[in-house]
Amino acid sequence: MKYGIIEGYRSLPKPRMKGQCPVCGNDVVSKCGNKTIWHWAHVAKKHCDSWWENETQWHRDWKDKYPTEWQEVVLFDEISGEKHIADIKTDSGLVIEFQNSPLTSEELKQREAFYKNIVWVINGDKFRNNFHILHGLPDPKSYLVEDIVFYPRKHHQQGELFYRKSENPGNPSMVEIHGIHEIQDEINKEYRGHHVYDWVRPRTVWYESSKKVYIDFGNEFLWNLQIYDDRGLPCVQAISKLRFLKESGSKIES
Ligand SMILES: [Zn+2]
Repeated sequence: MKYGIIEGYRSLPKPRMKGQCPVCGNDVVSKCGNKTIWHWAHVAKKHCDSWWENETQWHRDWKDKYPTEWQEVVLFDEISGEKHIADIKTDSGLVIEFQNSPLTSEELKQREAFYKNIVWVINGDKFRNNFHILHGLPDPKSYLVEDIVFYPRKHHQQGELFYRKSENPGNPSMVEIHGIHEIQDEINKEYRGHHVYDWVRPRTVWYESSKKVYIDFGNEFLWNLQIYDDRGLPCVQAISKLRFLKESGSKIES
C-alpha cells in the first residue's frame, strides 16, 4: 500500500516506520528498499484485503495522476461487512482499478458487484506481442455501417474485407466481397479510433466484464474493448490517456 495510518493520518512510507493498516487496523511497517517501490506491508505477512495485488511502478504511476485523497480509498459493504481498497475512487464515485495480474471469472464478478461503478485499466505489457491492432473502422454510429459489414480478422490473414447488405439482400449464403481499400477515404473521414484486432491467446475473462475495460500497452493511448456491431464483431477504440484522465476527473495537465 502507498498509504499507512500514523497517528490518524494517511502517511507515505519512509524508512523504518510503523503504522496501522487503513483497512484492518493491524500493524504495518514501511518497506523502503532499493528493489521494490516503497510501500507499507502487514507485520503478519498476509495482506488483509485478499483482492490486493503486489504494487508495481505501473500502479503507482497511474494512481499518482489523481489527487491523493482519491487514491487507495477503503470501501465498506455494510451488508456483507466486506472491506476493500479501491485504487482510485473519484469524487463522482467512479472506481478505477489498475489490474496487472489475470483474474478468474469469479473474481471479476465479485469485484464488479462490490464496486458497481467501476472501470478497469489493465496492464497489457505481458501480452503486447499477442495483441494485434488491425485496420481502422468507421464510427459504429456512422452511416457507412448501416450498409457495410466488416469481418473479424487474424493478424496473418491477407486482405481486409467487407460486404454490403444492399448488394446482398436477404440472408444469402454467399456474398459479394470487397476490399477495404475501396472505401478507405470514407473510413478515414468517419474514423473515431476504432480498430479490428486479433488477440492471440486472449485473457478471456475481460470479455466477461460488464464494465469498461481499457488496455494499457505503455504508450499514450488506452484501448477500450468493445463490440462493434449487432453481429458481435470485436473491436478496440483508442482513447488518449490525457482524455481518459480528464474525463475521469484527474486535474493533471501534462
Ligand atoms: Zn490490513
